[in-house]
Parts: sequence; C-alpha cells; structure tokens
Amino acid sequence: MIQQRYDVGIVGAGPAGLTAAYFAARAGARVIVLDHRDPPAQKIRISGGGRCNILPAHIDPSAYTTDSSPYIVRNILRAFPLSAAREFLTAVIGLELFQDGEKVYPRGGGEEVQHRFIATARHYGAVVRAPVAVTGVKKGHIILAGGEKVLASRVILATGGMSYPRTGSDGTGFAIARRLGHTVIEPYPALVALRGGSDAHHALAGVSVPAKLTVTTATERAEHTGGFLFTHRGYSGPVVLNLGHLAARAQQRRDHATITVAWNALGAEDWEAALAPSGKTVRGQLRTALPIRLVDLILAETAVPGDVKLAQMRRDARQRLVTALAAYRLPWTGTEGLKTAEVTGGGVALSEIDAATMRSRVHPWLYLCGEILDAFGPIGGANFLWAFATGKLAGSGGAA
Ligand SMILES: Cc1cc2nc3c(=O)[nH]c(=O)nc-3n(C[C@H](O)[C@H](O)[C@H](O)COP(=O)(O)OP(=O)(O)OC[C@H]3O[C@@H](n4cnc5c(N)ncnc54)[C@H](O)[C@@H]3O)c2cc1C
Repeated sequence: MIQQRYDVGIVGAGPAGLTAAYFAARAGARVIVLDHRDPPAQKIRISGGGRCNILPAHIDPSAYTTDSSPYIVRNILRAFPLSAAREFLTAVIGLELFQDGEKVYPRGGGEEVQHRFIATARHYGAVVRAPVAVTGVKKGHIILAGGEKVLASRVILATGGMSYPRTGSDGTGFAIARRLGHTVIEPYPALVALRGGSDAHHALAGVSVPAKLTVTTATERAEHTGGFLFTHRGYSGPVVLNLGHLAARAQQRRDHATITVAWNALGAEDWEAALAPSGKTVRGQLRTALPIRLVDLILAETAVPGDVKLAQMRRDARQRLVTALAAYRLPWTGTEGLKTAEVTGGGVALSEIDAATMRSRVHPWLYLCGEILDAFGPIGGANFLWAFATGKLAGSGGAA
C-alpha cells in the first residue's frame, strides 16, 4: 500500500494547531493534524472557567512577556490584528462573540468552540487524527508512539507548553524542539497563583479586594493593579496571576522576589489621610475601605488595637498600620507550579523563527506556533490571540 504523503503535518490540535490546519488547508495543502487527546483542544473547553475568554477587547503587545525581542512579538500580533481575529472566529469558525468589559467571549462557551474548531479544520479537508502520540519529528515525516511514520513535507509543531499537562501539553514538544536543535528558554509557570501565608491568611480564603502588587527582584520591578484573592493555600486573583511568573522565575534563578501589596491600590499618603485623627475608631474607619476580615488580620498582625480612636492612636502604631496597608510584605513561599498555571513561560526562542511565516531558522521544513514559543500574554484572552496569530502565520507559511 502506498502511504499518503501530506504537504503539512501538524503536531498538536490545540487552538494554534487547528488554526494552522484551517489556513493551510484553505490554501490548498493536504493537511493532517495529530493529537494524543481525544477530543483534542481541551484547553479551549476549560478556559475562562468554561466560558472561554477567547480574545481581549484591546491589544497591548508590550504586555506580552518574552526573553526574545518584544519587536518580534509586536510584528507577529500586527500580522493578525484583533479585527482579523474576530472576523476569523465569527465568519470561519462560526462563533457569536460578545464583549464583557475588557474581555471577549463566545456565546456558546468553551465546549462549543472546541468542537467548532475541530469541525472547521475537517470541513476544509484537514485530517484530524486522535488519539495518537507523536514522539519525534524528522525531515519528511512525523514519528508516532509505536513507530508508525506519517509522511509530511512540512511539519508544524503546535504542542503547547507544559502547564495543565492533563490537557495534553506535557512538554514533549519542547523535547522534540530541543532534539531538532532549537534553543528552548527554560519553561516556567506563568499566570500562576502563589502559595504561602499563615493559617490566619488561609482562613480568609474567598476574600477578594482590589490591590496594587509590586514585585521586586534583583533585576526588575513590576507593578500591577487588579483583583487580589486569598485562597486556601495562598494568593490568587488577576493581579497575582499576572505577576506570578516573576516569583517563579526568581525561584528558578535561586534569586529572591519581594512582593508588596497596596490594599485597595491606595498609597501611604491616602492611608495617612484616611487615618487622620478623628473620633472614629481605627477598625471602624478601616472597614469603610476594606473587608472586615482583612481589617482584623492587619490589626492583629500590626498589634494595633481596633477600638482605639484615631485621635488617640500612637504615632508608631499609625506608622506600622500605614506600612501594612500601603506596602504589605506578602509572605509567599512558592507558586502553584505548572500543574495549575494557565500558561507556560519560556519556550522556543523567537529569534530562531522567521516572524512572517513562523518557519524555523534551523530547519526550512519546520514551523512552530502557539504556546511552545517563548511568549505569553496577560490574562484576558491574549493567549488565545497569540495561538490564533501564530497559527495563522504558520498555516499560511507551511502551505506556501
Ligand atoms: C485553566 C486554563 C484556563 C485558560 N483560560 C484562558 C482564557 O480564558 N483565555 C486565553 O486567552 N487563554 C487561556 N488559557 C491559555 C490557553 O488555553 C493557551 O495559551 C492555549 O490553549 C495555547 O494554545 P496551543 O494550541 O499553543 O496549545 P494547547 O492548547 O496546549 O494545545 C496543544 C495540543 O497539542 C497536543 N499535544 C502535545 N504534545 C503532543 C504529542 N507529543 N503528541 C500529540 N499531541 C500532542 C495536546 O494534546 C494539545 O491538544 C487558559 C489555560 C488554562 C490551563
């Protein structure tokens, strides 16, 4: 029997691989997509708590993190602007989108998006084969577990990162890329929650408050404002998720990261003003600005009696309180790690990719797209956008 040879073989049927499959097939290429999860694209289904935050409402390329050049990220995102991504999702994938604040969602939720992506690739002629595990890639063919070879003139690696490995992205793609001679920036958890704190902190699980977080490491300082959430084991919420990778990377380097919190995103001067002498009690005044359980935690940790009138508060007590309110030193001890991180930082260095086509500069028959690359965006749909943009370029590039 003569074995079918494909023009484009895609490893990984996540959002990046399936987008590549559509663009390659539409350009006339014979396409096969291989995935070891059935059905594939499981991250689409579970994303955004099942609601699937599929795009951001606005795009800020400078908010993406990479060790490579930020200009490459910007050029890639420019090649598939938000308007084009929306058009693709509505006209091609058949989704109805709506905006909620800064986020864009599909009406049907993640499961519908997952099935529509797979159906669209098939509709345009791509073969989607699952479950089948890819163990290696060579010029001209893809090697499956068990030794079978799938013949493909061009190969697109779209295996994702290594976060949430139960969805299928278990890091095999990084190993394959390394074996092919690519530089892989050491992967680290990103959009990740933190562990740490005392039992008193864990008892506040579920309490959320707006906050400004400042992370300071030996090499950088970053600030972010957003929702902060106490959890049973530490801290989460958008503001923590968006900066958690800095803690992860500091640990990776055996370096230290200091994280301070300004509760309610207020600075020392604001708190000084709020705590100006008056007839109100300290506790009464703080509870107008913060959840009472957090107020009690801060009062206990600073040893400031809550029933004292602001006019009678001692100077040193006021000072301790203002520091704890405007620059609270978060007692984090680690991150929740790759098992529950929303994305993987690090990955294949962008300098080794031609940004116009996603073609590897190491092998002219190889293309890469999605989270396997060294870039990730903040929460809010930026990572699906990255998967679609790089998938589009790789699919079009691989089919040419
Ligand atoms: C809990 C959670 C919630 C998220 N929510 C959002 C959100 O709301 N908005 C957003 O923008 N982003 C979100 N993300 C991030 C987003 O899901 C990913 O960035 C995106 O799915 C990456 O796409 P990808 O195609 O590159 O990789 P993946 O989606 O990881 O797909 C890779 C595919 O490759 C397959 N594969 C891997 N190795 C092999 C192999 N050796 N052989 C065969 N197949 C293989 C896997 O089975 C998988 O199907 C979330 C992630 C998580 C974990």
